[in-house]
Amino acid sequence: MMYILEKKNVDQTLSEWSAKYEVYTPQKVEAYSQFLPFTESSELALNEPLNTRYPPKSLFLPQSEVMLKYNKRLNKFDEIKILPEKRIIFGIRPCDASAITLLDTVFDTDEYQDPYWTERRENTILVGLGCSEPPSTCFCTTVGYGPFNQDGLDALMTELDDVYVVEILSDKGQKLFSNFPASSKDQEQSVLNIQLKAKDLMEPAFETENLKQTLDQLFESDYWSEIAESCLGCGICTFLCPTCFCFDIVDEVQRNERIRNWDTCMFRIYSQEASGHNPRPTRAERTRQRLMHKYSYWLDHIDKIGCTGCGRCVRHCPVGLDIRAMLRAASNFEREVVNVG
Ligand code: SF4
Ligand code: SF4
Repeated sequence: MMYILEKKNVDQTLSEWSAKYEVYTPQKVEAYSQFLPFTESSELALNEPLNTRYPPKSLFLPQSEVMLKYNKRLNKFDEIKILPEKRIIFGIRPCDASAITLLDTVFDTDEYQDPYWTERRENTILVGLGCSEPPSTCFCTTVGYGPFNQDGLDALMTELDDVYVVEILSDKGQKLFSNFPASSKDQEQSVLNIQLKAKDLMEPAFETENLKQTLDQLFESDYWSEIAESCLGCGICTFLCPTCFCFDIVDEVQRNERIRNWDTCMFRIYSQEASGHNPRPTRAERTRQRLMHKYSYWLDHIDKIGCTGCGRCVRHCPVGLDIRAMLRAASNFEREVVNVG
């Protein structure tokens, strides 16, 4: 079933939903866009070709969050609220919704459920916006996803002239859009054409067949120091990545709080042991960890690549390091050095 949301009615719709939900949408913030709570004065950024700078994983795994508070005087824990409201994330791109489903396999498993993650997931409806004209830095089709991929979404919108055509993908999505007008057969055909065209526009960014084996084989090689030569170790590529999830837990004694903060394997101190030994002493080992995690260890974990091709690390690396070029170089390095040697 598909429904129509007219572009001229988007603000009013979001405003009506805001009475029952906390609604997040991409909004303009200086040169970038960011998911922020919708208000009457919000400047929506649904037409931005580029994705938000911060991935919406931050709405499920905040950059910094209080996990517990304790009262030293009374020797007891104070209650904390994880998230009171039901939420809608409106306009999430398919790569970011797919990334959230990847993170479900970390934070919500049979053996272990992270209550902070699961409660937010339970209370959130994801309304996606497909990418009719994927930017050149995106490569979702190369890694097994796509500009209209449906993983994790409750509804998916396709832009068509002055309307969004909404495909319903779950009961939550059905409930949200059931009072909207239905789309016509012509509109549905146009949606199909737009979706196929967008996918066709995307060229393969690198070879994924045998990539895991290639990287595994290069583990002890000089490939890593070559590709990491200009890396600054700033961590931006991981902080902005929708599938990176490392965190550090600290007790802020003066605030009586235990806090979880994003962390990154690109920092030297991340793997430093109490003895002073560091198993990843240079940026070569840290870059190896980043790429191996996404393109080898995730495959061991769930047989999927742990990168959804959102392109953020490509766009925001301050020295222009491009993960696609790094992965192309892996295959070339293996052919030229490992196989020949
Ligand atoms: S964003 Fe670029 S410079 Fe910074 S850690 Fe990542 S690869 Fe290195
Ligand atoms: S590795 Fe880069 S392209 Fe892949 S999901 Fe992370 S930020 Fe996006």
